[in-house]
Amino acid sequence: MKTFRCHCGNQLYFENVQCLACGRKLGFLPDVLTLSALEPAGDNLFRALAPEAQGRLYRPCHNYSHEDACNWMVPANEPDAFCQACRLNEVIPNLDKPGNRTLWIRIEQRKRRLVYDLRRQHLPVFPRSSHPDTGLGFAFLEDHPETETLEFSDHINDNPVMTGHANGLITINIAEADDVERERMRVQMNESQRTLLGHFRHESGHYYWDRLVAGSPYLGRVRELFGDERINYGQALERFYNDGPMPDWQLRFVSAYASSHPWEDWAECWAHWLQINDTLETAATIGLAPVESMKADLRERIDHWIRLAGHINLLNRSLDQPDPYPFVLSPPVVDKLALIDEIIANSGFTD
Ligand SMILES: [Zn+2]
Ligand SMILES: [Zn+2]
Ligand SMILES: [Zn+2]
Repeated sequence: MKTFRCHCGNQLYFENVQCLACGRKLGFLPDVLTLSALEPAGDNLFRALAPEAQGRLYRPCHNYSHEDACNWMVPANEPDAFCQACRLNEVIPNLDKPGNRTLWIRIEQRKRRLVYDLRRQHLPVFPRSSHPDTGLGFAFLEDHPETETLEFSDHINDNPVMTGHANGLITINIAEADDVERERMRVQMNESQRTLLGHFRHESGHYYWDRLVAGSPYLGRVRELFGDERINYGQALERFYNDGPMPDWQLRFVSAYASSHPWEDWAECWAHWLQINDTLETAATIGLAPVESMKADLRERIDHWIRLAGHINLLNRSLDQPDPYPFVLSPPVVDKLALIDEIIANSGFTD
């Protein structure tokens, strides 16, 4: 993730809504992918001061002006009330229920970061409302919505919300935004890392498998490295949950879960690719990694990343925190990341 500059010269971060130096209101401009200082222009309109925007007018996303849950802007010539990221929402939690707003705001933060990362890679990001067959959508659901009527209450526990992807719709169980709950799940599932952003990255991997791999010339090479995805998915997951991961998974997979099915292997590697690139770019921006590391080819980037991740882990041990990157990137995993890198670079999408 890059950092940004205010009109006054102050350094800004992706999540900021106001410049702490000059007090100007800030908004993220999805059309030019930059955070900009804003000048009121009347009638809920703002003039963007970032040079990339060339003085264009924007209005705040509805979730910015009404909910404090977004900091993105909508170009004034677009009819939508919601920004490019919030337009993807199909279901959000019941905000009248205590605690849900806090969880939702955390979820929205991660979603915007994902959308930014995807757009930066020139990957297609369209809502299902305008692209019913190929679009992307989000449903943020809870296990026990207050709207459930009493007659269904016997069945609520039988149907927990599963975080997952189906036909372009990514479902996130909002309990994943609750730190205690997420840590409990991490320990229960014996995972070395479980993060909210990680869920977004992983599920987006399933979505882009459908967009970039299925029926594409890459399918053969993907099958060679990740395995044949036509093996029964339900049975494979059942085997994983009953018998555990294959004993030698560390040699070929980035995580134990990745060994459950080729689709999960792809989604896990996709999530790592996004995580590595985002973090390496942040490090290069703030001087903790060479600037040229971002322009290097994938294998060189991985070398920079392994060095950086080792340092981040060491720093965290000094702070008595768990290793943030407790993974080993074996040669077969690096081959998989290199193929993902090639597919993303050649996705050929421009907007
Ligand atoms: Zn400023
Ligand atoms: Zn928004
Ligand atoms: Zn998955």
